[in-house]
Amino acid sequence: MRSAANHYLKHRFCDTANKPRSNSHQTHTAGTIAVTAIAVVGLASFFLSSGPARLARAGRPDLVALSTIDPSIRQDMRYASARNFTGNRVHGYEAGECWLRPSVARALADVQRDLVENEAGLKLKVLDCYRPRRSVKAFVAWAGREEDGRTRNYYPNLSRPELLSLGYIGRNSTHSKGIAVDLTVVRTSPKDKDQRSVDANTACTRTSDHAFDPASLDMGTTFDCFDPKSHTARGGLTSEQHNARQTLKRYMERHGFSNYRKEWWHYTYGAADDGRSFDVPVHAAGRLRDASEVGGVAEKAGVYKAKAAATKAKRKATDSKQEPDAGATLKGEAPAKPAD
Ligand SMILES: [Zn+2]
Repeated sequence: MRSAANHYLKHRFCDTANKPRSNSHQTHTAGTIAVTAIAVVGLASFFLSSGPARLARAGRPDLVALSTIDPSIRQDMRYASARNFTGNRVHGYEAGECWLRPSVARALADVQRDLVENEAGLKLKVLDCYRPRRSVKAFVAWAGREEDGRTRNYYPNLSRPELLSLGYIGRNSTHSKGIAVDLTVVRTSPKDKDQRSVDANTACTRTSDHAFDPASLDMGTTFDCFDPKSHTARGGLTSEQHNARQTLKRYMERHGFSNYRKEWWHYTYGAADDGRSFDVPVHAAGRLRDASEVGGVAEKAGVYKAKAAATKAKRKATDSKQEPDAGATLKGEAPAKPAD
């Protein structure tokens, strides 16, 4: 029971222990260190001043706004609103904008194209994409707080302590790597225009997102329903609900995504996993001066850090054998930490 629950939990928030950064710098000389750090500053400056190149920096893909890759994919970023299991906008979501690794965004655009061409009247709607590490921590903090009864409809058969102890809420997430997406399928022209009146407190197992958004296909539960009924291949669904889940799965798998079998909405694009995760807040695509990617924020911070690293390296050049972590400073991110 516990191991099954832990398995569920480990994946509930797409847990993947971040890989520690390898440390193979030991043999570098102090002189090499200084030159490397200075080169990092130069490279960072170059990429800041160039446009599209940033999206394809060799070996260093950051995050892109999905809307700049495929604006036809609907976005309903639930953690940027109060419509989620915490009952509040989640820390780290400053805008309801879907950011993903470039290759993931492109693959998702391929799914959308395929779906639109072959399933008349259907398209994708994303519910969560890149999730800052601070947001994952906020989930853990929420689960540790006293029950206030506001959002029990998302976990009608469990308590908050159980969400933690059974692992429904984890400390790391593939969403923080920008390689996971939570999504559903919607109709381009909803048949049911008259939205059903539904009590927002209805248990997630007894309603669906269709009740709140008539365009959404009925998947048998709402998004983020902490319950076995959310398992993708769960029995007891109507044929319509079963087919809706399988349609999403079929098209996502065609383009390299893998479903987490206990969450019909969660897909990862493993090919883009390089072990890095991020903690840059979610911004609107148009908010940044150069709105092409949220990674720009990290890069700007990275330039300063890289400059600081260069200065530090020069200082260390005379007496240190340790090279600054150029990768971490360039992207303005601390090295990923393994799970507690
Ligand atoms: Zn997910």
